[in-house]
Amino acid sequence: MVIGLDDQSSGSEESVTALLCSPRFTYIPQDVREHINLTNIASIFHLACPASPLQYQRDPVRTITTNVVGTIRVLELARRCGSRVLLASTSEVYGDPLQHPQSEAYCGNVDPLSIRACYDEGKRCAETVVMDYHRQYGTDIKIARIFNTYGPRMRLDDGRVISNFIVQALEDRDLTVYGDGQQTRSFCYIADLIDALLRFMTTPPSIQGPINLGTTDEITVVALAQMVLAQTQSSNRIVHKALPQGDPVRRRPDISRAQALLGWSPTTNLASGLSRTIPWFAERVIPAGSSVSCLEDRHAPRH
Ligand code: UDP
Repeated sequence: MVIGLDDQSSGSEESVTALLCSPRFTYIPQDVREHINLTNIASIFHLACPASPLQYQRDPVRTITTNVVGTIRVLELARRCGSRVLLASTSEVYGDPLQHPQSEAYCGNVDPLSIRACYDEGKRCAETVVMDYHRQYGTDIKIARIFNTYGPRMRLDDGRVISNFIVQALEDRDLTVYGDGQQTRSFCYIADLIDALLRFMTTPPSIQGPINLGTTDEITVVALAQMVLAQTQSSNRIVHKALPQGDPVRRRPDISRAQALLGWSPTTNLASGLSRTIPWFAERVIPAGSSVSCLEDRHAPRH
């Protein structure tokens, strides 16, 4: 039996509805910051929190309390039930990294006053409370640091780069590259990430992490835009908008720990992941009018 607990603040009803027909799935609409009144829970994937900068910066106080108070609620539930907890942490704990690629030993470069800090510092604190519950109460814990991930079922208005570019291309709009587009990310296909999370959850208690989960295929944002244009056979233009404050310059995980401990490496490259993702969006995009939200209208330029 699987229980999904979600307040739908950044999720999608469509994803939950698709599961409701299964007798093995129950849905509880709830904010993770409230007491979680459940019993007999074997394992908890703690994924609660918007991951898109657009979404998590919209209500920063909610974001940081979701990560801190929400994680404590999850850990209290785990204590009562003797559950194993896997925390979905993030590459954002490395901030704008000064080490490249980023290994788990790197402590990061995070500005606590930045507009991204509600998420970055929230996840860093979530890691801390998870470790403290483990040390103080013996809670069975695992920490995954998830790098950029994409795939079908993202919201059209999610605001992250891959969904924005695909929706813009399908709607015959210009693709909005923030800054000069030379900043890099490494994009992991969702099926690979789920495979890694499931493997991690079933490792022995001695394997707690943190473990980086992501792909090592690093690409500039402008090259990503060109790939999306090619795959959608679009002749739309690329336009440059202001780079949001605190936008990390380079990001690529060192995944040697995941390879060694989980026997895992991503198997889907970006071209093939995009070719599975674009048709899902194409079925949902309404060509006239736009649902894409962009950060550039909300934040002062960095240069
Ligand atoms: N980005 C962009 N255009 C967009 C959305 C994002 O150029 O429409 C850039 C953004 O500035 C960042 C990268 O794409 O450098 C990844 O952004 P995203 O919001 O997907 O995730 P992040 O890794 O920043 O959390």
